Amino acid sequence: MKITIPHLGNLYVFVKVLFDCLAVEYILPPPCTKRTLEIGTKYSPEMACLPLKINLGNFIESIELGADTIIITGAGGPCRYGYYCKMHEEMLKDLGYSNVKLIAIDPYAGLPALLKSIKTIFGTVDFINIAVSGVRAYRVMAEVDRLDKLCYYIRPRELVKGSANAVMRLLRDKIYSARNIGEVKKIVKETRAALLNIEVDTTLNPLKIGLMGEIYTIIEPFTNFNMEELLGDLGIEVDKTLTISKWIKEHLVKLHNHKEKAEYDKACEPYLKTPIGGHARESIGHSALYAKRGGDGIMQIYPLTCMPEIVASSILPALSRDYDIPLLTVVIDEITGDAGYKTRIEAFKDLLLKKREAKNNDGLLCRN
Ligand code: SF4
Repeated sequence: MKITIPHLGNLYVFVKVLFDCLAVEYILPPPCTKRTLEIGTKYSPEMACLPLKINLGNFIESIELGADTIIITGAGGPCRYGYYCKMHEEMLKDLGYSNVKLIAIDPYAGLPALLKSIKTIFGTVDFINIAVSGVRAYRVMAEVDRLDKLCYYIRPRELVKGSANAVMRLLRDKIYSARNIGEVKKIVKETRAALLNIEVDTTLNPLKIGLMGEIYTIIEPFTNFNMEELLGDLGIEVDKTLTISKWIKEHLVKLHNHKEKAEYDKACEPYLKTPIGGHARESIGHSALYAKRGGDGIMQIYPLTCMPEIVASSILPALSRDYDIPLLTVVIDEITGDAGYKTRIEAFKDLLLKKREAKNNDGLLCRN
């Protein structure tokens, strides 16, 4: 059995370390490219949301490399994600991959189903070993998420433009080729040291944008045209509350940060009272909290036809008026080109700069 997964930001770190620790055979999906998107788009229903299409492309590319088993997570609630596992299974069957097995890790399916899936994947019921390895893998992935966060601070302040990007570009390739957890940890540690070595101008007070929206689009850089890098290179500091480590903790393990949840729930309450699936309530609640913390702007990103974020996008303009914080909504689909998209972001940056200048003429703006 050769297992593969969908590509989802830093998820590959968790899977690699976990499977290496437990000696499970796996094939990491090649990083998402135009080809991945083209394959997924070609074989998916036109109105399916973008993550379903890109994930199908991931699966086919991994199958080409020898994968015969796919792990996918399940979900409850009104969002279409709950149907993905079945849809992918049917689509792969139609494409002639009927020998490929799909295993759903579905926290909503009940404990017996979950244990059965875990046993199928790991071939053991040694849950203590699985849990210990899971915690080790989680810690490494969370550290990689923290490296991303460190870059949010460095990029708009670095003295030599592109320094953080140059360090981070090597990270994924190095981890893909690492032979064991020890090597992965060493790579992560060296990357942190290299980032901390980058010279920054600590006197700058760059524009700050809160990134909100649909989790897949927020977390997978290919889908959002490397938005974090793009904003950072424009001299903007990114703030992002959704990360893959947070998603695993809250969605799969059900360990919520109750204080944070209570805060964003309360902030969301005046705008949306009912859970509508996806991360719509988080997008709204965190936008309000971010505005209160003094952020300069909010950017919402989501794939075309994403039901929860369409609802959030109809609410966020009211929040933007109430909190006097500019909002940019970016909707992405398979034909979105990055040129027009960059122009919109540059125009948004100009608007934020003007607003900052009008509010506070202290001259401590970003360099660009
Ligand atoms: S949150 Fe939106 S894009 Fe993501 S699976 Fe649900 S409907 Fe699709």
